[in-house]
Amino acid sequence: MSDCLFCKIIAGEIPSDKVYEDENVYAFRDIAPQAPTHILVIPKEHVASAADITEENSALVAKCFEAIAKIAGSEKLDGGFRVISNCGGDAGQTVRHLHFHILAGKKMSEKMV
Ligand code: 5GP
Ligand code: ZN
Repeated sequence: MSDCLFCKIIAGEIPSDKVYEDENVYAFRDIAPQAPTHILVIPKEHVASAADITEENSALVAKCFEAIAKIAGSEKLDGGFRVISNCGGDAGQTVRHLHFHILAGKKMSEKMV
């Protein structure tokens, strides 16, 4: 998608602080971190949100979670971490390219999930 911010980051057209990359997945540090560790994990294939996952493309979600487990190891997130995917306006999704936030490094609120 030519007008998608995260597709531009994957293509290297917009710089990012890369944490992990493989054939299917790209991960980079959030520009406005909300925890000491705040990493975004995205599929290289453009999918707008969790609402657009189908039988045909659901394998990319598994690939993202394989990457999340690897990143948890390489970033030494031994104290635990939270994975969040905002979907749609009420959830506060601002970038319409499926992404998983990894948040770690502090004790998190128990009020939301
Ligand atoms: P959302 O609000 O859609 O769940 O998450 C989008 C995230 O992307 C936000 O946490 C925001 O800080 C991050 N973000 C937006 N633009 C950029 C950017 O240009 N570079 C990086 N690294 N993160 C970005
Ligand atoms: Zn995209």
